[in-house]
Amino acid sequence: MNVVTLSSGAGVASKKHFMQEAKEQGFEQFIKTISTTFYAIPVSWLLLVGLAHQSVSLTPFFLWIVIFYIYWVYAVIAFNRIKSEGPKLSKHFKEVCIILVLEGILWGAMFYVVMGYDIKTDTWAAIFFVGIISVILPTYITYPTGFQLVLLGTILSAPVSFLMLSNNSIMFTDKIIAILMYLVAIGFLIRPISAKVIEGIRLELVNTALNEELQKSLTALSHQANTDALTGKLNRRALNKALDDLVVKGERRRSTFSLLMIDIDFFKSINDTHGHDVGDKALQHVADRIVAQLREDDLCARYGGEEFVVLLPSASLDEARVVAERIRFAVEHSPLKLPHQPITLSIGVATYQPGMSADMLLKVADNEVYAAKQNGRNQVRFSSANRAGLIASK
Ligand code: GH3
Ligand code: MG
Ligand code: MG
Repeated sequence: MNVVTLSSGAGVASKKHFMQEAKEQGFEQFIKTISTTFYAIPVSWLLLVGLAHQSVSLTPFFLWIVIFYIYWVYAVIAFNRIKSEGPKLSKHFKEVCIILVLEGILWGAMFYVVMGYDIKTDTWAAIFFVGIISVILPTYITYPTGFQLVLLGTILSAPVSFLMLSNNSIMFTDKIIAILMYLVAIGFLIRPISAKVIEGIRLELVNTALNEELQKSLTALSHQANTDALTGKLNRRALNKALDDLVVKGERRRSTFSLLMIDIDFFKSINDTHGHDVGDKALQHVADRIVAQLREDDLCARYGGEEFVVLLPSASLDEARVVAERIRFAVEHSPLKLPHQPITLSIGVATYQPGMSADMLLKVADNEVYAAKQNGRNQVRFSSANRAGLIASK
């Protein structure tokens, strides 16, 4: 008998695989978030215009906004496209890398356009910049490399901005240095926090995979517990359960159903003449022939060695007799012909009537099989409890 085993988490897939998958999901989450939060960038320009327009030289300031705007349109389109394609680190890393470094460069260039005019504007610009960084930081929590790429761009362009300022005095040098130190600090700090978030995603993935495996194993186990290994049909345990359910339903609704008890005639001699293996094949063959005569709602179970029980929900005695006869005929005329030995069946039909138990019903059908055997086999008989015991066919 096959035994279903539940493999450990490592069996589902390697730890590395889940970490890779978690990083991919983190990247996907990042793209989704940034493609939304990017729409806030024009608001920050407006804020900056409000803060600085009276003190700064307007030509470089607006030129900066126009360049930033062109970049922004390109970035929004690119993020939306990447989102629709399904973000993949292997596919989109380079493009995202360029967009983020460019963003950093543009923010770094801000120092050149708004700083160095007066101490008040410098201070506001510094506060503004720190504010922007704090607002965008959560976007990068599932993809800290993204933040470090922005940081790289800023670190590249901020000193250039600073050097381009004609009056690069100590007045704003300290602010630029403070901002850059702040950036570097949170660039490092975001890593361990982000690692915890990614670990959370990884654990969730492992959990989902284990759950799926558990469900599969449970389904396989339940299938095994209810299936007869040789014929693949229901086993006696599953039959008892289905029969009990039908009896409960019949009792409650005062409805009826029918049961066929099927016994192969002279099966022992098939084994004796052709061997046990041929006997097994014959059993499988008969089981398949029986099922081929049934409707979707009907059930076929292997009741014992060479005995089958068929449940016909809501079938009356007459309907059940027709099905039984169809089965008997189909097996007798089946392609599996053994030399000198067509396979034949003795079938007992019993129809449930409110008040009967499952055992009573089985007993009635079994008695009919016995009567069929006594009467020459290869025939369908129906219950004398349901009607006078007439031979239905021969
Ligand atoms: P009857 O017409 O009176 O039913 O005769 P019979 O030979 O079919 O009845 P009996 O109950 O004496 O024999 C049933 C035989 O079925 C005995 C047993 O060896 C065989 N059998 C039971 N289970 C299996 C099985 O899984 N494989 C095979 N090959 N034979 C089986
Ligand atoms: Mg038997
Ligand atoms: Mg038999």
